[in-house]
Amino acid sequence: MNEQIKKQILDKIESYQTIIVSRHIRPDGDAIGSTKGFVKVLRDTYPDKKIYLVNEDYSDDLAFTGGEDTVSDEVYDGALQIVIDTGTRARISNRKYTLAKELIKIDHHIEADPYGDINWVEDWRSAACEMIADFCLTFKDKLKLTKEAATYIYLGIVTDSSRFRHSEVCGETLRIAGALLDCGIDTETLYANLYMEDFERLKLKSFVYDNIKITENGVAYIYMSKEIQEQFNLTLESASDVVTELKRIRGSLIWIAFIDDLAKNSIRVRLRSRFLEINDLAKNYHGGGHAQAAGATVYSQEEMCSLIKDADKLLGEYKATHEGWL
Ligand code: AMP
Repeated sequence: MNEQIKKQILDKIESYQTIIVSRHIRPDGDAIGSTKGFVKVLRDTYPDKKIYLVNEDYSDDLAFTGGEDTVSDEVYDGALQIVIDTGTRARISNRKYTLAKELIKIDHHIEADPYGDINWVEDWRSAACEMIADFCLTFKDKLKLTKEAATYIYLGIVTDSSRFRHSEVCGETLRIAGALLDCGIDTETLYANLYMEDFERLKLKSFVYDNIKITENGVAYIYMSKEIQEQFNLTLESASDVVTELKRIRGSLIWIAFIDDLAKNSIRVRLRSRFLEINDLAKNYHGGGHAQAAGATVYSQEEMCSLIKDADKLLGEYKATHEGWL
């Protein structure tokens, strides 16, 4: 069935003269890689079409991947808008997407909001980039997949799958990654860009390790207050990144970062887990997401404590009914 959807998407791309591509807010490697990679493929394949990459926010972490476009509202007249890696319309990093004539959604999150005129959603994929690569390989006689485009797309797969470690990674993922590598990707430079850290960042990590708290049943969490963000000169994004520092504590199968969001007067919540599902918990706190990587929002310290309590209960129940967890 998805073969038909892919063909429909290709037909739409071929029939439009102007195409605008967008991703989700607070971009990660997959959102950036999939959109930049796809835009590069489209520009190389259709030099006569106008292809734009338009988003409202930006991530310093992935600045090495280059800039994006700004367009006037008239550009949307009669245009095709493609949104990649974005589960819900609220998360589209382009409020103008409704101005376009037609909308295509390409995504790997569990379907919660089929906002496109065409929706191609495969939630078993490790990354939206895996879908973009699959699309390019399906139509390889038509679409030009250069080394630069393949590098963007590979970036999204290696980051979203945590370097091919997530459970969604299967033989198909590696076959796709292999085909991308065959385009001549310079993995040494790519990984250097992904792993090099500023000294200031290492000092922040040291602070985080000193301040992680762990509940009775093993939920690890940290609260990045406004004061801490000021002390370390952090943006909301860089403060939010600390969630990754909590993931390797033995016995902590759920880990959570709470980050003061000054602009919204709320607290951003990033939830992660191993083995058990936390997306229902996120849903109870104005959020959602994947089984083991979800996001939510709380509006007070009391709500934060309540979420921690619920997470602790969930983990306690899991540990009481399962064996072999780490
Ligand atoms: P984050 O911690 O922001 O990286 O979010 C982890 C995953 O949860 C992302 O892949 C999002 O798709 C999803 N997510 C985050 N926030 C929300 C939300 N408010 N509603 C639905 N899904 C979300």
